[in-house]
Amino acid sequence: MQEGKFIYLAGFGVEKRLILATAKNIREVFGFGVRFSHITLPPRLGYNPQRGQYKGDTLLEVLSKVYYPDMLKFLALLPFDLYEEGLNFIFGLAQLGGRYAVVSTYRLKSEDERLFFERVFKEVNHELGHTFGLMHCKNKKCVMNFSNSLQDVDAKSRFFCEFCSKILPKP
Ligand SMILES: [Zn+2]
Ligand SMILES: [Zn+2]
Repeated sequence: MQEGKFIYLAGFGVEKRLILATAKNIREVFGFGVRFSHITLPPRLGYNPQRGQYKGDTLLEVLSKVYYPDMLKFLALLPFDLYEEGLNFIFGLAQLGGRYAVVSTYRLKSEDERLFFERVFKEVNHELGHTFGLMHCKNKKCVMNFSNSLQDVDAKSRFFCEFCSKILPKP
């Protein structure tokens, strides 16, 4: 099977401006072309009424059925609060070295739109980094630095350090 060249981006209930800005960020940082996916999800998929949150790996599993012949990676942007067993919340998750990733905008919100968008770009680049096989990085400025809180997200950049950049494929 031929490896696709495009990073597919799908937004579910996320503002169009953010999706377009995220696509621009992906093109800039990864150098790959971006295409938009318009698939829909079953309502309340992965919703846990006890927690009032959505289970990240359930969403990722269903999304991983989506396929386009020219697809390299697939990233979904969601407004729902995500969790994983054993964690209060997650900003996103990805298949390490796989194709699929999800990012939640829920905990990244700010009244400052620029800051909000910048946070989304960082988490998108981080999760896509995992799909390219990257692990967490000790460099505090590197986007692959692990973020446990918004302060951590704000402290890092949306770019990959020199070491991580070398592992990323070139378009
Ligand atoms: Zn991570
Ligand atoms: Zn790094």
